[in-house]
Amino acid sequence: MGKRAQQRRSAKATKKVRQRPSAVRPGAPSYDAAVARMPFLGSTADFGALDTPWDAFTDTYPTVADAVAAAEGTGALSCFFFDEVGEYERGIRRGPDGWSYEVTLYPRMQLRELVKTCWLNADDRDQAVEQLRRALAEYVPEAHRHPGIEVVHRPSTTTVPRIGWTQSLPLAGLETWEDAFLAEKDLPLHDLAPLVDGQSPGGRYTATVSPQTLALFQSHGLAVQACAGCGMLVADRHPHWPGVWVSVEHEFGPSCDRSRLGRLESLQRVGHVVEVADAGPAQELTGREPTAVCQNCGIDVTDQHPDWPGQWAVAGGDSDPVCAVLGTMGGDDEGEYDLLDCVYPHIPAGVDSPASAAIAAAKKGGYFLQL
Ligand SMILES: [Zn+2]
Ligand SMILES: [Zn+2]
Repeated sequence: MGKRAQQRRSAKATKKVRQRPSAVRPGAPSYDAAVARMPFLGSTADFGALDTPWDAFTDTYPTVADAVAAAEGTGALSCFFFDEVGEYERGIRRGPDGWSYEVTLYPRMQLRELVKTCWLNADDRDQAVEQLRRALAEYVPEAHRHPGIEVVHRPSTTTVPRIGWTQSLPLAGLETWEDAFLAEKDLPLHDLAPLVDGQSPGGRYTATVSPQTLALFQSHGLAVQACAGCGMLVADRHPHWPGVWVSVEHEFGPSCDRSRLGRLESLQRVGHVVEVADAGPAQELTGREPTAVCQNCGIDVTDQHPDWPGQWAVAGGDSDPVCAVLGTMGGDDEGEYDLLDCVYPHIPAGVDSPASAAIAAAKKGGYFLQL
């Protein structure tokens, strides 16, 4: 695992501890009993850092009726958060039969990567949303399908669509959020939680979805493929890497792991390939290639490396095509769930590239490590 991936994982672990949703609020009898046994809980309960998004939501709308009153104009109000089981959105929504309490469960990890990669690769992204909805419905094994569970497309914080499984309950009898939590506990939706990672429940961990899941999504007309060198899902329409195969959920840019999979481990980077015949060994620079200076990291780069034709790669060493500036650090928070994880290519001054605009936008948004 790369250093940034480790940092991100550790940051995620910290957030998970900090943001674990709690249906038990200070003042509730079981909370007070827990504090009596573990006094440190009571001493930290006042720190804002321990508040979860759900805490903030229920502080703003203390009862279900408060949320309904606030959502009169929009017809929906929800809160996104995650726990160790899944990434959820909970809230209320007005439908043809009036208001309901709704719980939506979203794909994460390898399955989320599959969804994003399919969407990025699509010629028609609106159509891809429909294809993804059908694929995610069929992804659920028959034993877990339920007429009350729908696959829905909900608003996202970016252009990447947010698609998940939802189930709702009538609001009748739900006065407090604790009522709602208790009522949703037995929803068949929660039986899907072991499936949302894209891993076989109880099976061996794999870096990407199973060949069967990949084939299922392809059977719905989605253009997605795995790298012939390392098996990762790859897209060639990432906004920062147009025309170059990259893994969307892993912050390595167009760097294939196949050099590490063979007996001769090498730090030399090579690109992802979709044809087995192209998965050759890493090649060398002659040292006579013309170079330019990357305007973002100041390193000498060349676009004539035999492994990176037309891409700017470091002119020497392990010839990394990934610039040293940092990307989005996409995670599990509401604003991060919909991001494409990213790193950026080197871009010498005066070079015109679609990635330049993406980097300019990223700088404005504060995505770059501000030195
Ligand atoms: Zn690869
Ligand atoms: Zn650079």
